[in-house]
Amino acid sequence: MKPFATRSIALAAALLALSAQAQDKVLNLYSARHYQTDENLYEGFTKATGIKINRVDGDDAGIVNRLRAEGASSPADVVLLVDAARLALADNMGLFQPIKSKVLDDAIPAHLRAQPTADGVTWTGFSTRARLVVYDPLRVKAADVATYEQLADPRLKGLLCTRSGSHPYNLSLFTTVVERLGDAQGETWLKGLVANMARDPKGGDTDQIKAVASGECGVALTNSYYVARLLKSSQPDDRTAMERVRVVFPNQGTSGTHVNIAGAAVAKHAKNRDNAVAFMEYLSSASAQGYFAEGNNEFPVAKGVKSNNPAIKAMGGDHFKGDNISLTVVAKNLPKVQQMLDRVGYK
Ligand code: FE
Repeated sequence: MKPFATRSIALAAALLALSAQAQDKVLNLYSARHYQTDENLYEGFTKATGIKINRVDGDDAGIVNRLRAEGASSPADVVLLVDAARLALADNMGLFQPIKSKVLDDAIPAHLRAQPTADGVTWTGFSTRARLVVYDPLRVKAADVATYEQLADPRLKGLLCTRSGSHPYNLSLFTTVVERLGDAQGETWLKGLVANMARDPKGGDTDQIKAVASGECGVALTNSYYVARLLKSSQPDDRTAMERVRVVFPNQGTSGTHVNIAGAAVAKHAKNRDNAVAFMEYLSSASAQGYFAEGNNEFPVAKGVKSNNPAIKAMGGDHFKGDNISLTVVAKNLPKVQQMLDRVGYK
């Protein structure tokens, strides 16, 4: 009886050790990104480290709600979100934890990360997208849309189209411009945008591009990857649309084109913290940057990594001046600019 019991205890201990080991080789990822190339991204990590990725997909709001509901019992190790505003909001809710990583400090520009504290940095951007101006060359002169500030010029009356002003993409851009202009001039600028509207804000970014192509609008705002997507499209309608419009990287002569990020952070209650940090570091590697950025026609951000995407090269996205305002500062001022939008009646 005794030898058997000893054996079974030894066996149980071995099994326990095995399962602990198995647990060590796991990373639970909550992701608001779902592109086909992301599969290659995750496979690359597993191949390099032996760490298996369990993924939970959702949209940004869904993931944040889930993390809040799960609290300390959340299995999440790493959280991937789109837009600095959303990352900062989740950070303010205490959903992330700071990490210290020399690899990330060296690879990722500081303005694309959360403000560092003594404990480290919470979120980090791993790709950028630019907020561009698209215009109809038959109705608008290139010289009249070279900057965001010009979009409020009465010359563009009845021509401007945007999606909702409160959408994170617009809110982040508007907050950057207000930061540059100062509050009073910034609010006047927003009022000028409203005065120039061709119609009430509606739809997504692709809808704005198509509305310019169809003649409903003369000028609009869009994220760069929607332009790249239409440039790559095999649909005749998309190609025709892109032949009709022109694309501008605004503010090249001044503060640079507004860029936002897709980024990641280690979850507050991560059980596999070391794996989470390893994954964050992996995202800054050249091969991961290729998948992460190119998968959605975004720009890689790690130092020394260049875009190989022909659509991005075609639109000049491999050599433009991006605004290097700290996204932490932008995120902090979003509520103030949302109030301005309410005051000037920007829907
Ligand atoms: Fe988008």
